[in-house]
Amino acid sequence: MTHKKKLLLVNPKNIYKKGIFNTDDYSVPPMSLGIMAALTPDHWEIVIRDENLETFQYEPADLVGFTALTSQATRAYELAQLYSKQGIKTVMGGIHATYMSEEALKHVDTVVKGEGESVWPQLIDDFEKGNMQPMYQGELEPLYDSPYPRIDLYPKGYGLGSLQTTRGCPMKCDFCSVHSFNGRKYRYRSVDDVVEEYKMIPQNRMYIVDDDFYGYGKKHAERAKSICRAFIKSGVQKEWYTFCSMNLADDAEAMQLMSEAGCRMVLLGIESELTSQLEASEKITNLKTGVENYEKVYDAFHKAGIAVLGSFIFGLDSDTRETIQARTDYFINSGVDCIQPGMLTPLPGTLTYQNMLKENRISDTNFPEAWNKFTFFNCVIHPKHMTTDEFQELMEEEWKRMFDLKVLKRKYLNTLKSTKNPFAAGWALSTNLKYHNTVFEGHSRDYDYAEVYRQLTSITMKMNDLIPAEGAFHHL
Ligand code: SF4
Repeated sequence: MTHKKKLLLVNPKNIYKKGIFNTDDYSVPPMSLGIMAALTPDHWEIVIRDENLETFQYEPADLVGFTALTSQATRAYELAQLYSKQGIKTVMGGIHATYMSEEALKHVDTVVKGEGESVWPQLIDDFEKGNMQPMYQGELEPLYDSPYPRIDLYPKGYGLGSLQTTRGCPMKCDFCSVHSFNGRKYRYRSVDDVVEEYKMIPQNRMYIVDDDFYGYGKKHAERAKSICRAFIKSGVQKEWYTFCSMNLADDAEAMQLMSEAGCRMVLLGIESELTSQLEASEKITNLKTGVENYEKVYDAFHKAGIAVLGSFIFGLDSDTRETIQARTDYFINSGVDCIQPGMLTPLPGTLTYQNMLKENRISDTNFPEAWNKFTFFNCVIHPKHMTTDEFQELMEEEWKRMFDLKVLKRKYLNTLKSTKNPFAAGWALSTNLKYHNTVFEGHSRDYDYAEVYRQLTSITMKMNDLIPAEGAFHHL
C-alpha cells in the first residue's frame, strides 16, 4: 500500500500582536486554505494549521502551502525556511505573494499569484510529476459553483465562522487592494451553496468576509436579500457582521432583512469625515452620500437594530495634528458605535503603496522584516505634516482618548438606545473593549471576551426604557 502524500497548509501569525484580529475570539478560519484543501485530490492527506490558534510545531509533510496578508509575510518566510532546509517544497499564495512575487520567490519554491482556485489542481498535478513551476497565475473565475471550503479540516477554536457569498468591488479606493486582487466585477456564489455552507459552519457567530455584502445595483441588492431570506428560512440562527458601504442605508428593506437574518454589526468604510480627504482618496460611495448625511446613515442602521463599526484612516496626506484630533472627537460624538482606527498603511497592491514607494515615503524599507509592522498600528510612512515618531506618539494618545472606558460606556448605552438591540450593542462594545485592551495593556488575548459577551447579551433589560440591569458594567 502506498502512503498518501501529505499537504500541510499554514496560516502564519504576525508576532506583533496588536489589533483585535490577532485575538482568539475575533479569529476566523483562513478560507483560502479551506478552498485549496477542497481542490486537492483525495489521495492526499491534508492538514491545516493556524499559528493564530496554536503554537507552531514542525511536522513532516511532502508539500507545504502558506497564505499571508502583508503583515504575516515575514513569518511565512521564516516557516518556509524550516521546510526548505529539509528539502521540502513550499508554496505561497495570497495578496502579499501576488504583489511581491519576486520577494516571495526568494523564500518559497512556488508562488501563486491572484486567486488560487484556477491553478491549484494544475499545481498539485505538476508537483506529483516532479514538475512544479515557480509561478502560477490565477484567473478571476466565476464563483457560482466554487467548492465549499473544507470546514472539517479547520483547527478548533475560532471565535467566528467565516462565509463568503461574493467577491469583487467596483470602487477603486487608493489605499485598498481588493479591487485589483478580486476584480472590479462582482462574482457571486449560488444562494443555495451559501446557505448550505451557512448551515455547516459550527460557530453560531460569523464574519461574512465579502468585499461588500450588499454591493451596488439592483441585482446585487436582490441577491443579498435572497441570502437573508434563505438564512431566516433555514431555521439556523447565527449572529454575524459584514462589510457594507453607505449606499445600503437607502434600502430599509435590506437592512431589516439583514437584521432578522442575524446581522448585528456592519463594518462601514467611513475613512474620513472630511470631503476633501474622501476626494483625494477616491472614496466615491461616501462622496455620493455626503459627509453631511453620515448621521442619517448611522440612524438608518440603528433603526434596523444594527450597530455601526466605522473604519477610519488616520494619517491621510492632508492630516495634521488638528485634523487627527478632530477625527477622534468626531468618533466620540457621532453615532458610530465602535471604531476600527487604522493608520494609513501602504499595502503592496495599492496605489498608495506605489506612490509612497516612488516618493520615498515608506519609513522602514528593511523588507521582509519591516512587513511585521504593517498592522495598521505602526506608523510605517513619512506623513506629510509631522514626523513618523510624532505621528506614532499622537496616535497612541488618540487611541487612549477614543477607547477611554467612559467613552465606551456612553457608546454602549447609546447603541442600546438607538438599536434597541442588546446583541448589536454587545457586538459593538466587545469590539471597542478589544481595542481598549490592546491600547491600554498592549494585548487583547487575555481578555475574556466570551464571558463579557455572555454577560452583555444575557442582561435582562426593560426594553421600554432601555436601562441595563444592575451589574451590566461590572466587568469594566
Ligand atoms: S475600500 Fe471598500 S469600497 Fe473601496 S475599493 Fe476597497 S473594498 Fe471597495
